[in-house]
Amino acid sequence: MNEKELMLTSILNCSRSDLYAQPVKLNPEDSARFEKMKERRAEGEPLQYILGSWDFMGLKFLVDERVLIPRPETETLVELALEKAKAFADREIEILDLGTGSGNIAVALAHFIKNCRVTTVDISQDALEVAQHNAAYNRVEQRITFLNGDMKNFLNKFRTEGKTFDMIISNPPYVKRSQLSSLQLEVRREPALALDGGEDGLDFYRVIIAGAADILKHNAFLLFEIGDDQAEDIKNIFASYSGYKNWEIIQDLTNRDRIIIVKRES
Ligand code: GLN
Repeated sequence: MNEKELMLTSILNCSRSDLYAQPVKLNPEDSARFEKMKERRAEGEPLQYILGSWDFMGLKFLVDERVLIPRPETETLVELALEKAKAFADREIEILDLGTGSGNIAVALAHFIKNCRVTTVDISQDALEVAQHNAAYNRVEQRITFLNGDMKNFLNKFRTEGKTFDMIISNPPYVKRSQLSSLQLEVRREPALALDGGEDGLDFYRVIIAGAADILKHNAFLLFEIGDDQAEDIKNIFASYSGYKNWEIIQDLTNRDRIIIVKRES
């Protein structure tokens, strides 16, 4: 659907074909909403925020300026996690999602893996409220725990408590700080907190790789989304820790490096 169609189907709560079945006549209230949407769009606001929801893995998610908009490349990350989760098919799977944002990864995993529990961490309380809403909307809130705070602190806490996971997944902020201001207008409307990966874009990979080793079970997976030019640098960070084995780099649908997955072998 084009943008106009997406706006109209959202306002009229109808399908695309309904729009063409007969000439669309908007009542004054709907017409005002449509005009307002077009105005916001013309000002550079992302279409997804204007519509208020977006599809990810075939599920519906509330999205607004509190959270990063779910991206198609992150579906590749979730699909890989679903594939790897088959290895643990016969028991309860403990998953940790670091920097959950809208909750898209956690909710999709909980929806598709019935025998999993997901722990999510986000430093933004605002984002966690959106994630909680999305978990409830998709009826998986019973199997997701929401923790507010710095992921580094939680990684330490899990280690001290002896809490371990079968899978740690993350789409952390990975944009270089110097590049934030040159991002597309729409992307600059998204929370900088969800994009800013520090000076070289790798801050969160350092934190996760350092903290994850101690809380991954034997044969557990660590996987994350990466920037398309970051695979080598991240491999070098991994190389300075023992215990991570068999890394694979996987491309997104546009053939760019987008995911790194490693297995924990003690
Ligand atoms: N893929 C996003 C972008 O380039 C970045 C997402 C992130 O930092 N995790 O806009």
